[in-house]
Amino acid sequence: MSFADVVQHLHTAFNSGKTRNVDFREKQLNSLLRMYEETHIEMARALASDLRKHKQEAYVMEIEFLMNDLRNTIFNLREWVKTEKPEKTLVNMMDGVFIYKDPYGVVLVMGAWNYPLQLSLAPVAAAIAAGNCVLIKPSEVAPASSKFIAETIPKYLDRDCYRVVEGGAKETSELLQQKFDYIFYTGSGRVGRIIHKACSANLTPCTLELGGKSPCYIDKTADIAISTKRILWGKFINAGQTCIAPDYILCSREVQDQFVKEAKLVLKEWYGENPKQSPDLCRIINQQHFQRLSNLIKGANVAIGGDMDSEDKYIAPTILTDVKPSDPVMQDEIFGPILPILIVENAYEAIKFINARDKALAMYIFSKNAKDRELIIANTSCGGICINDALGHFAVESLPFGGVGPSGMGSYHGKYGFDTFTHKKSCLLKDFNALGEKLASSRYPPYSDGKLSFLSTVLKKRQSFSIKFLPYILMFGIGVASTLMVKCFSEERV
Ligand code: NAD
Repeated sequence: MSFADVVQHLHTAFNSGKTRNVDFREKQLNSLLRMYEETHIEMARALASDLRKHKQEAYVMEIEFLMNDLRNTIFNLREWVKTEKPEKTLVNMMDGVFIYKDPYGVVLVMGAWNYPLQLSLAPVAAAIAAGNCVLIKPSEVAPASSKFIAETIPKYLDRDCYRVVEGGAKETSELLQQKFDYIFYTGSGRVGRIIHKACSANLTPCTLELGGKSPCYIDKTADIAISTKRILWGKFINAGQTCIAPDYILCSREVQDQFVKEAKLVLKEWYGENPKQSPDLCRIINQQHFQRLSNLIKGANVAIGGDMDSEDKYIAPTILTDVKPSDPVMQDEIFGPILPILIVENAYEAIKFINARDKALAMYIFSKNAKDRELIIANTSCGGICINDALGHFAVESLPFGGVGPSGMGSYHGKYGFDTFTHKKSCLLKDFNALGEKLASSRYPPYSDGKLSFLSTVLKKRQSFSIKFLPYILMFGIGVASTLMVKCFSEERV
């Protein structure tokens, strides 16, 4: 089947109305959950094959993340799909005002290789929940995970409504020639621009989950021992190949010295004398990324780590000190186990540094000083902020996850994922009663000053009055009236 045939098939399936049925969606989501429960060992094996990901990282960051995200979606689905009845204005007091939750249609989901299962399948679950048909294109850069998705999904999900295609740049370009109703892409800004251009040709709405250099500011009020552990975990998990990994640290020279001292102890405790022997460290995904990363270390001021093995695609957890903004490591997102530290004297300098660069996907602040934290939050822009921890905000399902500007557009996770794949279709319902028509007739020609004055009065936005209080006002009115009537009645009897 050509891509055109696959996409056409999905459009036909969507037009059949099958996925609009909420029971059908629920059945598919339950089937996806069963897939995770029955195949989690294969999932962990695929992740180990692609990235030498340790079982603990595989389960916490991907498999169990997917299961919990899905359980939350299944649990809330009936609530999320409900047609909303938003607040009405005085003019629409007698009308029906609704927001229908409409699926877009046929959605293309393109995953990334660093969390190759989670980043492909979490958006798929949200798209299914919202009632779409889905074409999944996992990243070819993580071949074992891509193969797992391609072979396993058809065994669990409806084959007319959900399809998987595999491939790289050539196949992606071909796919982008097809007409989709929504495109959800996770990956680099470079390819994000290509996707966005393809979307604009067809005016296809899209979400771009991109990356960038996520700054991490530490001040001297922070608990350096705890901060160091949290930052190192966020940086070296998945060998730094995490879109929201702290990309670089901004701190004073005094904090830099304390951080490096502490980091030496922590890394030794976690990975032993020779981190290469540790089973807990992932490997770099391929030679191309290994070469790119090894070039960033050459000539830099290495305080910790720096060891590399090209055959094993191994790079030790590496910390660079006294890094300058002009150094190679500060030119692009690092996306590997290298953590540069740059010196700033205070929060103002950190803000200046951050604002001189692209808006990041994440930002980290380690500080006990609430005033300085607020100062940084209020004066910078980024996808999301995590204070005194690393990566933690990603796992809060009530928080939208996504970038801003160069780090992405749109968001997902929890209800935000459902909303991303849902068109909110508004609807006004009027009936044919005589009073309503009498009121509406003032909008018809012939126009007059009297009609204009009436319309201006009715349409005027009143801050102090909300129609939602009308029932209470009426009830209060009825209450007062009946009290008065009872009073009159009893006085009459007396
Ligand atoms: P990438 O954008 O280089 O590649 C993604 C996919 O695009 C590839 O799998 C390939 O199929 C396709 N592609 C490559 N070149 C293409 C071309 N010329 N035309 C059409 N398609 C093409 O991204 P990557 O290396 O897989 O991911 C790394 C980036 O992704 C980092 O910047 C990282 O921060 C970001 N990322 C973001 C998130 C997030 O949730 N925001 C998650 C993971 C990764």
